[in-house]
Amino acid sequence: MNTITHFSRFYHKMGSITHLATFCRESRFREKLFILLSTHNCCACSSACLQHLHTCIAKNTLSEAYQRQGYPHEALALLHEMQQTDVQPDHFTFATVLPACTKMGAVKEGMNIHQSIIEGGFLSDAVVANALMDMYTKCGSIAKARELFNKMPQKNMVSWNTILAGYAQSGDLDEATRVFKEMPRRDTVSWTSMIAAYAHNGLAENALNTFKQMQLAGVKTDSTTFVSILPASAKIGDFEQGMNIHQRIIESGFSSEVVVASALIDMYAKCGSIRRAREMFEKMPQRNLFSWTAMIAGYAQNGIFEEALETFIQMKMAGLKPDSTTFSSVLPACAKMGALKQGMDIHRNIIQSGLLSDVLVASALVDMYAKCGSIHKARHLFNEVSKQDTVLWNAMISGYAMHGYGKDALKLFELMKQAGIYPDHVTFVGILFATSHAGLVDKGCKYFNDMSDPYCIMPTMDHYVCMVDLIGRAGYLEKAFNFIIKMPIQPAVILWMCLLGACKLHKDIRLGLFTATLVFELDPKNAAPYVLLSDIYAKGDRWDDVQKIRKLIKDKDIKKIPGCSWIEVHKSVHAFCAGDRSHPQTREIYAELEKLSLAMKAGGYFPDSRHVLNDVEEEEGEMFLCHHSEKLAIAFGLLNTSPGTTIRVVKNLRVCIDCHTATKFISKVVAREIIVRDANRFHHFTHGQCSCGDYW
Ligand code: ZN
Ligand code: ZN
Repeated sequence: MNTITHFSRFYHKMGSITHLATFCRESRFREKLFILLSTHNCCACSSACLQHLHTCIAKNTLSEAYQRQGYPHEALALLHEMQQTDVQPDHFTFATVLPACTKMGAVKEGMNIHQSIIEGGFLSDAVVANALMDMYTKCGSIAKARELFNKMPQKNMVSWNTILAGYAQSGDLDEATRVFKEMPRRDTVSWTSMIAAYAHNGLAENALNTFKQMQLAGVKTDSTTFVSILPASAKIGDFEQGMNIHQRIIESGFSSEVVVASALIDMYAKCGSIRRAREMFEKMPQRNLFSWTAMIAGYAQNGIFEEALETFIQMKMAGLKPDSTTFSSVLPACAKMGALKQGMDIHRNIIQSGLLSDVLVASALVDMYAKCGSIHKARHLFNEVSKQDTVLWNAMISGYAMHGYGKDALKLFELMKQAGIYPDHVTFVGILFATSHAGLVDKGCKYFNDMSDPYCIMPTMDHYVCMVDLIGRAGYLEKAFNFIIKMPIQPAVILWMCLLGACKLHKDIRLGLFTATLVFELDPKNAAPYVLLSDIYAKGDRWDDVQKIRKLIKDKDIKKIPGCSWIEVHKSVHAFCAGDRSHPQTREIYAELEKLSLAMKAGGYFPDSRHVLNDVEEEEGEMFLCHHSEKLAIAFGLLNTSPGTTIRVVKNLRVCIDCHTATKFISKVVAREIIVRDANRFHHFTHGQCSCGDYW
């Protein structure tokens, strides 16, 4: 006995059930060991207890122990082994082993067990029937589950909840609602299933209403209810509502539960209150992977990319292993900042974790490489991913589009169709964007028509924006105008902005003024139409009108979004805003700009101060022209990297005409490739030229 106890304690502590099982199989104390396994608390401590247990349980416990500890294969193997012996499985065995099939998605195996259950006459047992139903619903055979449910002589609460959850998880909301209404009684699980079903399927309002009804019905809420309702509140972005739910959570005493607190972090972050999210995070007595991931994703969603990366690093230092959700939350932060080196570190991390085959992670990586300017790396990775889905193809297609490789994007789209991957609305945004930046008007119009037939995808505002951009850019301004007027949905301000951009490109003052006036009315606090109209006047040499617009902006107290650029040097990201003097290397940066400016002027460049409206406050305007954020970032990059290194800069707004011209000159003067990603697309500057062909 002592030997067994010793072994058992050792293996139990080590959590190594496999070793123990091997020992069991070889041991003459085999049955006793099965029991040891099942009794975590009295594990090998009292022989009396063991004797007692010995008599009542046998193999079932090992099967259950396997199942609980995540060894479904072993649990099933044990059943087979058992069926070879004279010990026959009973209802308890079946109820234990069915979840193992569920876990593995082994529906064939489950059906064999179903047969054994019928033969053994156990189907009338509600516990067994419920476990079977659960297996079928979770393995995607809802019809089979329904058949069982209909035939059940006595349905209990679990039976009703299982079939309800089955419909809810399969997304059949109509049937779920019907079952919910038919139920003789509804408990916490039933209400929570219904709330989760609505929330998962994007019906946040319904979820919130159901939550209210649940409370009116006086049904107890548990932590799962809160975890299900919080994403609905987050989706609507209703901060007040979220606060109310938080209050309820505090009253019910669930606020210290890690899952609930993590859902709260997520809710606050999505409602835009990153401060509260952080407060929740700080207050948590313990944090798990979900809490860290929620915090990282929260920062990334709120545009606080440096913090997202910082939190990711802290999480790893705290000894937690990131999972696929963590990786796909932190990678967009790298992508947004153009932090290629850090993104590459994370790539290595992903390889080590063995998560590269996860298509969500792979897509985020492809997207990161594309957005960090490494379109070839993105393609290389894309080719290597074995499991492919729409999101992955979308990342690659949009990447090409952003870099101005319109033809490559369209080629890839054809390959996508050949590979049998179905395009979705995001695919078409990428495709239309690609045709627009490559000036392929006819192709673009054809793809736009393809959307409704054969693909049955309703165009959204994003697609209309691409179309107006495509038609307008190509110079068909009247046609673009008519396109907006005839749209079946109410045109958003952004469409008019798009047309205004086209007017600027083609110097159409008349239509430009008309469109700008329209936007002034629709969106009075938006500075962008003023800036665009001012640019249109500038292009037409109407400098009095440019001055008038500057005055208007000042009089109406319209705030422009401050221009900001990021550059990654030696794995840390440096941010600059226009005229920034906060960087420790400020003196060197400005001196470098001065030096560059002289060299550029010698090469024929002259600063065009007439376009300063784009990026800075106007009173600071002209003197700051050469201090726009991207220029500061480029100068910093030149100072801190070795000659010949590519400089990669990311900017939050569109690059202005002067910066565009200046960067072309700089690329020539210093003989470097400079890649700038602005709000709209990539510009690859080499030898005094830009890949966009001055068409952006
Ligand atoms: Zn500029
Ligand atoms: Zn360009």
